[in-house]
Amino acid sequence: MRNLSHLAFLVGFCVYVGIRAFYKQRTKSNQVEIGRMDFIEKALLVLLIPGALLFPLVYLFTSWLAFADYRLPANADAGGLLLMMAALYLFWRSHADLGENWSQTLELRKGHELVTHGVYRSIRHPMYASLWLWFVAQSLVLQNWLAGVYPLVAFAMMYFIRTPREERMMREFFGEQYVDYMRRTGRIFPRGRHPTRD
Ligand code: SAH
Repeated sequence: MRNLSHLAFLVGFCVYVGIRAFYKQRTKSNQVEIGRMDFIEKALLVLLIPGALLFPLVYLFTSWLAFADYRLPANADAGGLLLMMAALYLFWRSHADLGENWSQTLELRKGHELVTHGVYRSIRHPMYASLWLWFVAQSLVLQNWLAGVYPLVAFAMMYFIRTPREERMMREFFGEQYVDYMRRTGRIFPRGRHPTRD
């Protein structure tokens, strides 16, 4: 650990893992009705997990990744920590709003309900929005190609490949209700208002 922002990142990292763990155990007894965990899903997770969980810890506690360090202008890490706080808030809210309907992969549980309230009111993917913020923050605070940039690239791949597949699954299951929800919302940015088109 080389400076205070690394320590702050570690605290944020523990909060982030804690939020996940808390909601994961709450959905443990869910019965899966539709599962889309295929090769692509698995490959995306295998690419992302080391960057999200392993490399940051190796970077913080050893000097093994020092060969891949880079240096950003001063205060980049402070900007990163601000983004991280916004990310944690959105990450927590989206888990809380999805409640029992959350799952780490593409699946729908028995009795799955479409959530359209809270942070889901104007965007369809607040959790992915929070992960964008998180991984951008990580690349600003952990200034290293493997612990900072690699996870951002792996997440970008996951976002662009998974999101349309998730929306297809949701449309198949919820039909007109999801299509209607899509009309009112944006993916990670609220949809602009077009009164004449409504
Ligand atoms: N894409 C969402 C959720 C990520 S978790 C976000 O970024 O906030 C992925 C799982 O959440 C999906 O497999 C699906 O089961 C569930 N899900 C996604 N959007 C949902 C919604 N609006 N209501 C209920 N469940 C949803």
